Amino acid sequence: MQLSLPLSCESSLEVVHRRLAGHYGVPEERLRLPPVAQLVLSFIGTRSKGEQSMAVFEKLFAAYGSWEAVAAANPADLFGLLEPLSFAEDKAYRLPLALQQIARLRGRLDLAFLADWPVEAAMGWLTRLPGVGPKVAAAVLNFSTLDRRALVIDSHHLRVLRRLGLVRRTTTLEGAYPRLERLTPEDWDSAALERHHTLMKGHGQQLCRLIRPDCPACPLRDICAYASGIGGRRDEAVIALLDHAGEGDAGAVAIMRPDDLHPDR
Ligand code: SF4
Repeated sequence: MQLSLPLSCESSLEVVHRRLAGHYGVPEERLRLPPVAQLVLSFIGTRSKGEQSMAVFEKLFAAYGSWEAVAAANPADLFGLLEPLSFAEDKAYRLPLALQQIARLRGRLDLAFLADWPVEAAMGWLTRLPGVGPKVAAAVLNFSTLDRRALVIDSHHLRVLRRLGLVRRTTTLEGAYPRLERLTPEDWDSAALERHHTLMKGHGQQLCRLIRPDCPACPLRDICAYASGIGGRRDEAVIALLDHAGEGDAGAVAIMRPDDLHPDR
């Protein structure tokens, strides 16, 4: 029997979001930094723990007094401050380059102009800066006072997406952005996107851990490809079931294997 998959993918993230918010609580809104400060914090915080990154960020600003001074800093001196963080040498080399490039292209070290740009264009502009990838770019747009509609995806978030089957097991961080853009409900504003990232990241840290995810305790286990045994064989089947769950969402949703939907395989 060939089943069609008529349901919109849009509700997939809503189901996941609602269940995670029910399990962990609705995240509080973060304190918004000016965009250049957010760029520095996200840049140095890549692959590092949040508290540690914030401590280094505060030390950095206390030591230099302005982001213009950080832009002019000697990488060897910066390295001394960034050393507790991962990839410190690379960050110490590239951070001044990224800040210098903003100042050179815009005439001053300021990203406020991005407030009026389409998000896609702003992402493109930011990711052309040295060392700035889509995660840092999205964080600048979404977390800062720019308050733009961009979804931040980090490695925890990506792991949860892969296990749920919402992206392929081989999807990279860069590849996840266009896919998630299509799945994100149009009525989610900037604050909703920020909350979604916080929930997904927190879930990846608490239950959907890299090693030994705690599936029995997970509110998503009945709609999860990994927990169902499908594992990495993500398929439209899982997305269809997520969407089906979106219509009611209260009861358990039996997971079907892709072969149930595509018996000719
Ligand atoms: S059921 Fe397991 S693998 Fe799936 S999202 Fe939950 S913790 Fe992660």
